[in-house]
Amino acid sequence: MTQWVYSFGAGHNDGSAEMRNLLGGKGANLAEMASIGLPVPPGFTITTEVCTWYYEHGKQYPAELRDQVATALARVEQAVGARFGDHRKPLLVSVRSGARVSMPGMMDTVLNLGLNDATVDGLAAASGDARFAWDSYRRFIQMYGSVVLGVDHHRFEEIIEHVKLDRGVIEDTELTAQDWHRVVDGYKDMVAEVKGQPFPQDPEAQLWGAIGAVFGSWMNARANTYRRLHDIPADWGTAVNVQAMVFGNMGEDCATGVCFTRDPSTGEDVFYGEYLINAQGEDVVAGIRTPQPMSEARAKPGERSMEKAMPAAYAELVQVRQTLERHYRDMQDIEFTVQQNKLYMLQTRNGKRTAAASLKIAVDMAREGLIDEREAVRRVNPSALDQLLHPTLDPKAPRKLLSRGLPASPGAACGTVVFTADEAEARAAKGESVILVRIETSPEDIHGMHAAKGILTTRGGMTSHAAVVARGMGRPCVAGAGGVTVDYAGQTLMAGGKVVQAGETVTLDGATGEIFIGAVAMVEPKLSGDFETLMGWADAVRRLRVRANAETPLDAETARKFGAEGIGLCRTEHMFFDPDRIGAVRQMIMAENERGRRDALERLLPFQRQDFAALFRIMVGLPITIRLLDPPLHEFLPHTEAEIAEVAQALGADVTAMQRRAAELSEANPMLGHRGCRLGITFPEIYEMQARAIFEAAVEIGKSTRKAPVPEIMIPLVATKRELEITRAQVDRVAQEVFAESGYHVEYYVGTMIELPRAALTADSIAASADFFSFGTNDLTQTTFGLSRDDAGKFLPVYVEKGIMAKDPFVSIDVEGVGALVRIAAEKGRGVKPELKLGICGEHGGDPASIEFCETIGLDYVSCSPYRVPVARLAAAQAALNAAQAGGGGDRTA
Ligand code: ADP
Ligand code: MG
Ligand code: MG
Repeated sequence: MTQWVYSFGAGHNDGSAEMRNLLGGKGANLAEMASIGLPVPPGFTITTEVCTWYYEHGKQYPAELRDQVATALARVEQAVGARFGDHRKPLLVSVRSGARVSMPGMMDTVLNLGLNDATVDGLAAASGDARFAWDSYRRFIQMYGSVVLGVDHHRFEEIIEHVKLDRGVIEDTELTAQDWHRVVDGYKDMVAEVKGQPFPQDPEAQLWGAIGAVFGSWMNARANTYRRLHDIPADWGTAVNVQAMVFGNMGEDCATGVCFTRDPSTGEDVFYGEYLINAQGEDVVAGIRTPQPMSEARAKPGERSMEKAMPAAYAELVQVRQTLERHYRDMQDIEFTVQQNKLYMLQTRNGKRTAAASLKIAVDMAREGLIDEREAVRRVNPSALDQLLHPTLDPKAPRKLLSRGLPASPGAACGTVVFTADEAEARAAKGESVILVRIETSPEDIHGMHAAKGILTTRGGMTSHAAVVARGMGRPCVAGAGGVTVDYAGQTLMAGGKVVQAGETVTLDGATGEIFIGAVAMVEPKLSGDFETLMGWADAVRRLRVRANAETPLDAETARKFGAEGIGLCRTEHMFFDPDRIGAVRQMIMAENERGRRDALERLLPFQRQDFAALFRIMVGLPITIRLLDPPLHEFLPHTEAEIAEVAQALGADVTAMQRRAAELSEANPMLGHRGCRLGITFPEIYEMQARAIFEAAVEIGKSTRKAPVPEIMIPLVATKRELEITRAQVDRVAQEVFAESGYHVEYYVGTMIELPRAALTADSIAASADFFSFGTNDLTQTTFGLSRDDAGKFLPVYVEKGIMAKDPFVSIDVEGVGALVRIAAEKGRGVKPELKLGICGEHGGDPASIEFCETIGLDYVSCSPYRVPVARLAAAQAALNAAQAGGGGDRTA
């Protein structure tokens, strides 16, 4: 018989942390904590398999479920010494969702379940506190009413406001047992009216209602959006946790809190978090009362730290913190409640953190001996490194402070103010930088937070929704800016008498919590010692070399600074767009004969030579792959009348002739037209000029520095062996000429891009004329799928949404199709030429999943944009570790 229900802390621990797939993260860790002796209120977990079963069977439960729940509930009753639905001493439970990975969008937790008109008196008698009992009952109706029954939460707030007004009080805490009783009556009447039936009194019915709501929430729109953004498959399902209640709201010796075992923003080794005295779970994150800091070290004047207020419970928590870090060997995000000075643990999970914190924690933990260096390398998400490489505010830049909030997620962001997630998304889609400003955020805002450059909220603490989500996404965030007033209707925000309208610019500093009016200048990040340390560990384990795609001296310098080991792709056409060259380029293209072309090329030669010399100087001693002219000619054609007139004049031709020539040269399908080596074949003088520029520059640098560069000359868009033979022969001939003229010889290689399926399939014959292959996976993706990247925006997102493609194949390599061609070409190429050097250039070279693929097929290097170089270094190291673990690794070492 399938076990659908797993107990924890009830004298039974069926689960453990390894069972996260079955029990969800929350359930697995509750069981794990209980089994290592931490104080966890007893409960049970209904597995994720029930969720899957439920959706596969028209929203029915497996037949055995009811009995298994009853058995598990009985165990909880026994462990607690109270009975569910009992009138004298009722057991109350919470019902909590919990998927494999923590997921906003899922059903909110329902607390105090099991209360009704009879058990509330039992709770009052058992606790000796009627006010607490009635407050708990109204909390329950409110949570269950809004979360399970879908009653608008304003309806509940109105009723409380009404009672407060009537009693002439301001704070909830001033309300008495009788007042809460009145609130409860009001709630029940209101729910009955809205729902057309009374609020459920039967605890069993309440329990199953809440369980059904958790499973139902798995397929709601919020959860679906979140899953789509985070690549979480729908068939994972969620678990449901039912757990005995403990009460943080029974008086001044009670509290509840949320904290991290280290600072999730900076990674510092301090206990970090927030708690509230006399409060229940959701109060801390809801932002209704201002939470207080955990440690005295982090308390500001006027704040009351838990360390001071509850020394005994705090000391126990510090102990727990150490136990958890030793056990999980990672920073934990924990939830706890103190009931009458007794500590209970309600949750632990590996804490979300900023990239900076993730780096520091990994390096620190390796130094502390909690993990080894390899594990530290695995711990940092390569894509998150990107965040560290992003700008911060220039300390010297002038600025106009508007207000301050909490430094919820670091980094600086500047953009126009928008007040809704939809607008943030719409404007960002048009390329605008926006700052999303909300009173507080909820899971409905995720898409807008994603689209925004930064997030500002006026309510909520460091663990509010906005703060947690922003840190996870790497968006700068200032939260809980209490001094800022947001007026949604008027589309303005105000602080200290200043008004900012929607559409005006603000700048956020997520590291300090400051908000500025207007744009503030930013500076490039300085990379800390931890960064160097981790990169050193990564470099020690990686096999793949990492090069950069660069054509300007600035790019080349950035690339070197980030540790690039060469240039994997220098696109020469980018050198042609310069204003002082484009005229000559147009002249070359428009010339109707070789003579005209040669004149133009003569003018371009010195420019090209300079370009290459500059790159050779920066990359001294490192390989540089230079791709000869590739793009569709139309990119260079003159368009405006003035441009045409200019070319006409340079060529001594008349304007109408030039217009005719331009029309002649225009193509129906330029990406598959007159480009790549087809240019080199039809107009050999173009590649000759480029080869000459390369060799003359190499000779010049070789002579002056005595360290000759080793250029790798790459012929683009080769489909057949013959194309490469012809173009290669030209290059070789120019090389000999230059060497003879200068009396100086440099080593060089000639190879090709593999970017057409035909080239991949005939790579063995092409390899005969090639010293290296570089996989141009952008074009290879276009030509393999037969889809144009520039036009794919109209349908690719739909494909990804419908699951026809798991990911955008231009972002992450399509291993099954495009990858197969790469693999075939690599095997065939090396089959005839074992020393053939293999690399990849293009967007995929900086994508961690694609890099992993490159490792498995044994390429020599990846090449990516300069800023992605650290990402690629780390991803390559992780790929090597994974390969070693899988027992194989690349077929060859570099
Ligand atoms: P989330 O996934 O949104 O954090 P949780 O299920 O963790 O939701 O619960 C929300 C809040 O309710 C947390 O603060 C948690 O500590 C509190 N809570 C959950 N179960 C209990 C319980 N059995 N007793 C007391 N507080 C609880
Ligand atoms: Mg929740
Ligand atoms: Mg929680």
